Amino acid sequence: MSPDASSSMAKDSQILNDVNTTPVDVAPSRYARTEAIESALLGATCRFCGSHRHQTFVDLGMSPLCESYLTREQLDQMEPFYPLYAFVCENCFLVQLKEYVTAESIFSDYAYFSSYSDSWVEHARRYAEAMIKRFQLNRDNRVVEIASNDGYLLQHFVARNVPALGVEPAANVAAVARKKGIATRNAFFGRECAREMVEEGLRADLIAANNVLAHVPDLNSFVAGLKILLADSGVLTVEFPHLMRLIEENQFDTIYHEHFCYFSFCTVIRVFAAHGLTVFDVEKLPTHGGSLRVYARHEQDTGKPVTQRAEELRRRELEAGYERIETYLSYAPQVAETKRKLLDFLIEVRRAGKHVAGYGAPGKGNTLLNYCGIRTDFIDYTVDRNPIKHGKFLPGTHIPIHEPQHIFETQPAYVVILPWNLKDEIVRQLEGIREWGGRFVLPIPELTEL
Ligand SMILES: [Zn+2]
Repeated sequence: MSPDASSSMAKDSQILNDVNTTPVDVAPSRYARTEAIESALLGATCRFCGSHRHQTFVDLGMSPLCESYLTREQLDQMEPFYPLYAFVCENCFLVQLKEYVTAESIFSDYAYFSSYSDSWVEHARRYAEAMIKRFQLNRDNRVVEIASNDGYLLQHFVARNVPALGVEPAANVAAVARKKGIATRNAFFGRECAREMVEEGLRADLIAANNVLAHVPDLNSFVAGLKILLADSGVLTVEFPHLMRLIEENQFDTIYHEHFCYFSFCTVIRVFAAHGLTVFDVEKLPTHGGSLRVYARHEQDTGKPVTQRAEELRRRELEAGYERIETYLSYAPQVAETKRKLLDFLIEVRRAGKHVAGYGAPGKGNTLLNYCGIRTDFIDYTVDRNPIKHGKFLPGTHIPIHEPQHIFETQPAYVVILPWNLKDEIVRQLEGIREWGGRFVLPIPELTEL
């Protein structure tokens, strides 16, 4: 064994030692449990470690699925609402939602085609270039993407003659990828699917699992599948929104029924280690309010030592308390205070007879508006650039969605920016509202007038 390899192994085991895996005694939550919460928690087990010991992370009440926009006819019908209740495991600190709505019902006939987003396709192109260069991929290798959507990412490997295979659960989306010439299996990925692929001789030198880990109900089967599918010296990359950003930047509106898990870096290290995978590198990405791209390999593959930046991020999380339950318990009061501030503001301006419009109709806006109980009594309408949404209504709150031009026709006093991640772009586009004294309002991370 080379000196390099042995020092990397020492580092790996240190990571695992530092990341606490034993249960801790916990002070009672500062956020009192209601009877409803007790009932919601009853029978909930951690989807990673199986523990029954958990605490409230945040209770966002009852909410419809955040992408279920309504037609005018649907306004007269009943609408399904599900608890949007996130808890944190006291044993492994995985923040999670129960599977109130099955992944099959959400993802089997999914309407989201990644190629519709130019910035997302560009993100994918840069990823492919970087991976081909760093891991010297060529025609003798194989790249597998899990949840490969319409081939928006794999097309960049195919263009560089690196064999690629997608695994995609939505049949309609997989069909679009195949039409583009991207080999795609229509399946939900997990242990069984990986075993079948390996039996067919399809092991992967690079596995990409971008923005899928949070959506997986059976986390252990999924990560076990990654382990099975990965070639002996292969590399696996996983992208997911970073829980530290969700907490520090108050991004509670990114909690959706479709996101079953919310990961810190330490928790991902722990989950992967339990399946014989070692996290050896990490990059911070600006996507989805702040994501991590984590690199993992087989634990035996010690030729890829743990990088300095992986060590640093792990240390930062430990210092910030992400391996202590108290850190998670202070989140719910912070979220409740954000709601009160936003409502205070809206009550005041509406009492003064001023009009308020929304900008955007993103999923995160729906989480926020439903949690705060903001309907057309506070926000007259919202606008969106996506023509598919025009004439429809936001789920739960029934706020109508118009074209952006509607703002200039009605001249509201305030425009609440719902996709806060795009605030600079939106303020630039709507600069014209200043002409009638219009102001922008950003609700997250805290109420700010722009
Ligand atoms: Zn757990």
